[in-house]
Amino acid sequence: MAIDLFNTLSGTVEPLAPEQANELRMYCCGPTVYDYGHIGNFRTFLHVDVLRRVARLQGMKLKHVMNITDVDDKIIRNAAAANMPISEYTAKFERAFFEDMEALGVERPEIVPHATESIPDMVSLIQTLAKEDIAYRADDGSWYFRIAKFPDYGKLSKKDFEGIEDGARVDVDEYEKDSARDFALWKAEKNGEASWQTDLGTGRPGWHIECSAMAMKHLGPTFDLHAGGEDLMFPHHENEIAQSESATHKPFARHWFHVRFLLVEGKKMSKSEGNFFTLRDLLLKGYRASAIRFLLLSVPYRHQMNFTFEGLTESANAIDRLRTFAERMRTAIFSGEENSELAALIAEKQQAFDAALATDLNTAEARAAMFDVVRAANSAADQNKVSAENAKAILVFLQRFDSVFDVLTDRDQKITKAALDWAEKEGRIGEAAEGLVEAAGLSDNEIQKLVDERTLAKKQRNFARADAIRNELAEKGVLIEDSKDGVRWKRK
Ligand code: AMP
Ligand code: ZN
Repeated sequence: MAIDLFNTLSGTVEPLAPEQANELRMYCCGPTVYDYGHIGNFRTFLHVDVLRRVARLQGMKLKHVMNITDVDDKIIRNAAAANMPISEYTAKFERAFFEDMEALGVERPEIVPHATESIPDMVSLIQTLAKEDIAYRADDGSWYFRIAKFPDYGKLSKKDFEGIEDGARVDVDEYEKDSARDFALWKAEKNGEASWQTDLGTGRPGWHIECSAMAMKHLGPTFDLHAGGEDLMFPHHENEIAQSESATHKPFARHWFHVRFLLVEGKKMSKSEGNFFTLRDLLLKGYRASAIRFLLLSVPYRHQMNFTFEGLTESANAIDRLRTFAERMRTAIFSGEENSELAALIAEKQQAFDAALATDLNTAEARAAMFDVVRAANSAADQNKVSAENAKAILVFLQRFDSVFDVLTDRDQKITKAALDWAEKEGRIGEAAEGLVEAAGLSDNEIQKLVDERTLAKKQRNFARADAIRNELAEKGVLIEDSKDGVRWKRK
């Protein structure tokens, strides 16, 4: 089954067709590592992760390049404020970024080049453009891209530049250039800021040229797919196309994948609105990484998504339900006769799951297909109408579901604990939700011991002791649940 995917360039949904039959060669704009990643950033990386995983389910291998932008204005400004060399400053936030990606279950791309390690590639690309007078040097030593030389400019974002006079700016910077529309390829050194001595002069690369150079270095002039958040479509991706295609005279990325923005409580995220959240902010509030992943994937990538705390709580409940269900299917003894009605439903829903993902990555419908099975199988199991064969088929479906959604394995406690260790180091432990610190203070072993002691006390009908242990654990943020299949505990 081919994956049908919206292509921003063609403006239609079309089959994703890698040039080399079984390998998807893709590029995704990576983070600018000047601060901790926020949940909007991670919405984009999570949907790119789904694309990876669905491509793999379809039998494709992956060659996925994601750059790290480790030099830019914000980095230079923040590193100076923190009194750190930029390399040390960016290393810290790059590390944090990958810790967050891992916490959210986002797979690491195969190739992760750094802008600062790819300067010679950018310089040579600019030189190629200069030979055709497409790149030119301004008086201050900066280099610009002459947009007038690329008639296709605007083909991705569908902006019409014909009627726009020269005065319209596509890139805001203060350098002198021939046309105000032209954008910077290379920024001449000023005020002793981070710079490289090159054949173009001393300076640093513009942001757009980074991605063109790194994408083509690792994937060649033409590759299958280019991804990023919708804000990057213009001018960043438009400029990438202009630079690359002007230099190679070949098509750059064939398929463009843009993830729409995340709003928080109905508004654009902003620090002044008080609705700006990094992943770490949410972990310190006691929310689980798995619930954040599941929530951010609940709305298909092409729709704007509104993040709410209510949604986050529902997401955590949905995961609990799935985990409990998976445990039931794994451990209960099913002696019912073959339930052919249930068997047909499982087969139908698994097909619906595959079809939903193959239809422009419809994560909402894919997830709904799984929950249809959860509902039907739970109710059949309550009536002892599940056979061992049914349970086996359900486990196969669950595994397929989890190869994309990746929420069944409980890594949450470990992640929360790591977030608390970080908060302690950064002097931000005071922001942690009540109960979280204490709960993290008890190790899993200590909790299990108390839980076992309570089970024993109950057996011996020492209910006072059992209740006392339950209360003590509750105070430390640990909830005990008695179920048919035994005693479970979890951190609040
Ligand atoms: P940055 O580090 O700012 O370059 O952003 C990294 C990625 O996050 C880019 O692909 C952006 O388009 C994306 N992004 C930024 N804000 C949001 C948001 N609110 N919703 C979705 N994606 C976003
Ligand atoms: Zn980029």
